[in-house]
Amino acid sequence: MTATLIDGKLFAAELRAAQKSALSALAARGVQPGLAAILAGDDPASRVYLRNKARACEETGVRSEVHEFPASVSASALLERLAQLNADPRVHGILVQLPLPPQIDASQVLAAVSPMKDVDGFHAMNLGALLQGRPGFVPGTPAGVMRLLEHAGVPLAGQHAVIVGRSTIVGKPLALLLLQKDATVTICHSQTRDLAAVTQQADILIVAAGRAKLVTAQMVKRGACVIDVGVNRMADGKLEGDVDFAAVRETAGWITPVPGGVGPMTIAMLIINTIRAAELSLA
Ligand code: NAP
Repeated sequence: MTATLIDGKLFAAELRAAQKSALSALAARGVQPGLAAILAGDDPASRVYLRNKARACEETGVRSEVHEFPASVSASALLERLAQLNADPRVHGILVQLPLPPQIDASQVLAAVSPMKDVDGFHAMNLGALLQGRPGFVPGTPAGVMRLLEHAGVPLAGQHAVIVGRSTIVGKPLALLLLQKDATVTICHSQTRDLAAVTQQADILIVAAGRAKLVTAQMVKRGACVIDVGVNRMADGKLEGDVDFAAVRETAGWITPVPGGVGPMTIAMLIINTIRAAELSLA
């Protein structure tokens, strides 16, 4: 069996193109959605992510701005800038690029983003809404994974979904979204005993561990849907996922590539959230 490739790059571009009418309706009311990003320090990966986000914003018709700070920045400087951005009517979405420098308490900074502009969905109010199944901004990566599964026609109700990784930005919110769709969900992490024994039971296997080629073909049930969230920069500069793509595609029913799978969907969801925030600002 060779798995069906789920092309996140193509689908993300279609989703962004489909925002045209929402953007025109906003333009008719004199509004262009605006996304402001906070970047503290000089992490090269963060810079690449922000560049990709800014490019996608520009292609879609969303204004973007980056607020850069040195690695030595104080929490109060970041909080002061966030207060300005929260009050700025031209800014509808705010994202704080993680990781922040070690002297900064990330949870304090994320809590200072207005929940109405929290397009990354990391504010406790939006995460709480997700837990309760109420409307709110959903983090881009889990939301993007759900859209990919839906787009590929992968059945969810009653299926066993196994997630490897329990972070607040990927694993935990994804578990909640899959539960909302009536999947039976198992979350694995670094302390899970016999990871392979669990992953072999998955109808849907989502891997977000940040460990290159953690998942081998032997760990995947024949015909399963495998979604690879991992992004690992190898010594030769190439990007690798958490899944041994070449081997697993011979076993799986569906598979996402890295790059070109979940990454572009994360960005598309961020942009869609920003457009929604602009609409909500007029409501
Ligand atoms: P994270 O906060 O470091 O969390 C990693 C999770 O994986 C933790 O729960 C950890 O367990 C678990 N884990 C690590 N090694 C494991 C192992 N050997 N077996 C089982 N579980 C293991 O990372 P994250 O922010 O969620 O990101 C995960 C990966 O996704 C990274 O490669 C990141 O770059 C990528 N990512 C991609 C996108 C995208 O848009 N494509 C977005 C976000 C993240 P413990 O909790 O026990 O430590």
